[in-house]
Amino acid sequence: MRALWKFISVIVLCQWTHGATPTITVAKFRDDKPAAISFTFDDGSQSQATIVAPLFEEFGYRATFFVIAGLTREKPSDPVLTLRRDWAAVTWAEWRDVVARGHEIGSHSWSHPKLTLLNSGSELRHQLAASARLIEKKVDRPVRAIAFPYNQFNNGILDFARRYYIAIRTRWSDYTVLAKSVDEANQMVLRTIAGHSWMVPNLHGVDEGYGPVSRDFLREHLAFIKARDSQVWVDTYSTITRYCAEQQRAKVNVLQTSSNSCEFTVTCPLPPRDYDVPLTIVLHQSGAATARAVCNGEPLPVRVLADKILVSTVPAPQSITVEWN
Ligand SMILES: [Zn+2]
Repeated sequence: MRALWKFISVIVLCQWTHGATPTITVAKFRDDKPAAISFTFDDGSQSQATIVAPLFEEFGYRATFFVIAGLTREKPSDPVLTLRRDWAAVTWAEWRDVVARGHEIGSHSWSHPKLTLLNSGSELRHQLAASARLIEKKVDRPVRAIAFPYNQFNNGILDFARRYYIAIRTRWSDYTVLAKSVDEANQMVLRTIAGHSWMVPNLHGVDEGYGPVSRDFLREHLAFIKARDSQVWVDTYSTITRYCAEQQRAKVNVLQTSSNSCEFTVTCPLPPRDYDVPLTIVLHQSGAATARAVCNGEPLPVRVLADKILVSTVPAPQSITVEWN
């Protein structure tokens, strides 16, 4: 994987045709942080709306919740449609509220079968496509992410899912098995930082539901991550998926430079309807005290650090001018 990043950096650097000017790269993760984490919670057990979402918000974080679309009720007084009482306990009304606060809702299928055991393509289509359509209708947001029930899938299911989703959870860290204590979970974060990688914790309920963690566990764990805020980007599953896809396909083209300015474009061939997550552009420039970045006459978010200038921009054909002194 590291070789791939190096290769991408080389491609970007190869487009650099001027001397004595900053090299420009697209950061692997937002704000040029070395690591990323997307917390994902499956099955829609009640504590996800009442405990998890508010707790994440306390830390300024957002989570991804994979819901069983066809079993989710509109309000608590509606009949329970699931065999397991903890499945789909959160209602659509609650999910709408959670989404409005910036969290992501993805599909965990229509009714939580083992997809590998389904008999027909039409059943599979129903589980994958109808669940996305219903969630979109209920929460009025695009559904981009899916996590398969029991994390079971094969290549055929994967191919099918790609028709409907751009963020498919194919790798995860099962906290039920791997994080028996806060210390173990925190060690996983440290390994993620050391490995410059992206961890996708898979959890369920808090103090209830399948394989629960405790509220204290989650609070302590999030506090541990927050203390490493400069090193870890925490965001939803599809946001980080889309960022990484854009990052891998982005091209930086330098148009002109001077000793204290640079004009360039950052373009990406992926469809902007889905791939509109701002990328962090890194100008490797030491010693700047201030900087400003402008695109189409509008200022872009910019941060000046000791050895680099970070500019945040959605890929687009319009050129960006950065000036520093
Ligand atoms: Zn599940």
